[in-house]
Amino acid sequence: MRQMATVRRIDAIQPIPNADAIECAVIGGWKVVVKKGEYQPGDLAIYCEIDSWIPNELAPFLSKKEPKEFNGVKGERLRTVRLRGQLSQGLLLPLSFAFALPPTTSVDIVGTDVTETLGIQKWEAPIPAQLAGQVRGNFPSAIPKTDQERVQNIRLEEYLDDTYEVTEKLHGASCTFYLDTEGQFHVCSRNLDLKPDENNSYWKAAYKYGIEQKMRDLNLRGYAIQGELCGTGINGNNYQLGLEFFAFDVYQVGIGYWRPTARQGLIEMLGIRHVPVLTTMTLVHLTKEEILASAEGTSAIAPCKREGLVYKSEHSDKTFKAVSNAWLLKYE
Ligand code: ATP
Ligand code: MN
Repeated sequence: MRQMATVRRIDAIQPIPNADAIECAVIGGWKVVVKKGEYQPGDLAIYCEIDSWIPNELAPFLSKKEPKEFNGVKGERLRTVRLRGQLSQGLLLPLSFAFALPPTTSVDIVGTDVTETLGIQKWEAPIPAQLAGQVRGNFPSAIPKTDQERVQNIRLEEYLDDTYEVTEKLHGASCTFYLDTEGQFHVCSRNLDLKPDENNSYWKAAYKYGIEQKMRDLNLRGYAIQGELCGTGINGNNYQLGLEFFAFDVYQVGIGYWRPTARQGLIEMLGIRHVPVLTTMTLVHLTKEEILASAEGTSAIAPCKREGLVYKSEHSDKTFKAVSNAWLLKYE
């Protein structure tokens, strides 16, 4: 699981115009509304990211009515909200929630993951029936699961000096087609290898596009085509599609991820759709705020807001995502 709750140093405390009881704490690329005077710049605190499932005992004030339940734990999911016009993402908790004794200055605890200590989980949407399927096995260990780090969490300085492919982040379900080195064809969800099943959306997509045959025709043994499955019943289907697969990665066992230009070429040869490619650019001089602002916009595949952008380096495995805050406020 990703680190949902970590010890962080508060970079700044900013006033919120026309609000006298609350102010805004800045932690890396994140902003969180807190009670006025509760934290000072430079303080250590526990920062919980959006989509954390916070047990009720930690923050009972999050529940307006009865607390909800997730995996048997009563609590609430942290969403993106606006308070007095100020965007607020996540939750700050006092350090004392995770440490019995105040840590001495000799130990550097910044970055310590306290997710488990606090009983915090990552909230996940329930899996709809047509996606669930029958499990064939675990996700193949030879290929990485799809994931992208948020721009708010990266050390941007380490990313700036490079050229990036910018693609639209589509909001569907992660889907991997894999022809293994032995010649077995696999269809996988984000975390599982699924049994062939005509009622399962992942397999429906594999049949619809004839993926297995296309991969065999090009002799793509040891290759995985990874992409986003969008359509009826999948994550709200804002795009109003039937069932469509959009590739965003090609992984070759023993080699790694293909670079954007080569990948786009291979996907075209396979005759399948690629996620929308918006541009190729360097990030020199850009700030996290500017990158986040450019995540806002209309989807290239339908007349709705886009979820965000994914940046992939042309020369290395460096990638990250910028999710639209307008999209988070409206749909999450
Ligand atoms: P979190 O980062 O909060 O843990 P998460 O792990 O649920 O969230 P997402 O926010 O869905 O992940 O972001 C990563 C996912 O985005 C990938 O697993 C992939 O399925 C999906 N995705 C959609 N469009 C793209 C794209 N253009 N490039 C790469 N991944 C994409
Ligand atoms: Mn993730």
